[in-house]
Amino acid sequence: MPDYVLKATAGNGQIRVFAATTTGLAETARRLHQTSPVVTQALGRLLTAGALMGSMMKNADELLTLKIAGDGPLSGLLVTADAKGNVKGYPYVSDLSDTITAPLPVSAAIGSGTLNVLKDIGLKEPYVGYAPLVSGEIAEDLTYYYAQSEQIPTSVSLGVLLNDDGSVRQAGGFIIQLMPDTDDAVIDALEAALAATPSLTKQLDEGKTLETIIEVLFKDLNLKVSKTEIIRFFCDCSRQRITKALMSIGKDDLVEIISDQEDIEINCDFCQEKYHFSPEDLQSILDHRAGKEA
Ligand SMILES: [Zn+2]
Repeated sequence: MPDYVLKATAGNGQIRVFAATTTGLAETARRLHQTSPVVTQALGRLLTAGALMGSMMKNADELLTLKIAGDGPLSGLLVTADAKGNVKGYPYVSDLSDTITAPLPVSAAIGSGTLNVLKDIGLKEPYVGYAPLVSGEIAEDLTYYYAQSEQIPTSVSLGVLLNDDGSVRQAGGFIIQLMPDTDDAVIDALEAALAATPSLTKQLDEGKTLETIIEVLFKDLNLKVSKTEIIRFFCDCSRQRITKALMSIGKDDLVEIISDQEDIEINCDFCQEKYHFSPEDLQSILDHRAGKEA
């Protein structure tokens, strides 16, 4: 079954619920970036957050970027998502030499640092939100970000379960937000339900569907599922895009690369796709550039 996100409301519209299964997303990222277990978990969590937050955007052409920078050995992670279920991302360091039997906690890999949230909503300047990392486990950091930067009481859960060979067994998460002026009784009922529910990935691993899990969690809170949407790892890089990027580098730099008379290889950070350019390709980019400038 493909990954998907489920959107719902509960508590008479006072609670917004976004829940997602992201096993395929997290496993695709692991294969593309050849990550060691702790990096697979960290990247899977941030990709899940990206899928959820992408689905929360209101307009189809909005773009979200989540960036974590830390002083731990992983150094950082970058994820982008659109409102149509396309998510991509990469770790700054792929392999921390940890193993499935001796895993490093995600917080130790990330360390202290910051979380940046960029929302390009089609205006001249993107919305930029920022919060210090409070735990380095990502879900708590996002909860804190929402409280501090957007002033929305939010519960975030993100999980990645691994198989013995390091591949992703289950991944998923949810974001639950309270509208302003939510009744205390609704908040109490939600807190009690959250405290009593086992982890999402554990329940998925028992064969339960996302729908069942969310229905049980909100059984006393009048849940209304509004829709589900497919999500996937998708990179929109292309030879044309890389060519455009090459056109924008300095003329002297291009001339210097061409003078080496060797093919160059450019790697897409997000999906590891390799693009090759011969000196002739680069010369034609330079000529095209010169033509534009003339
Ligand atoms: Zn790519």
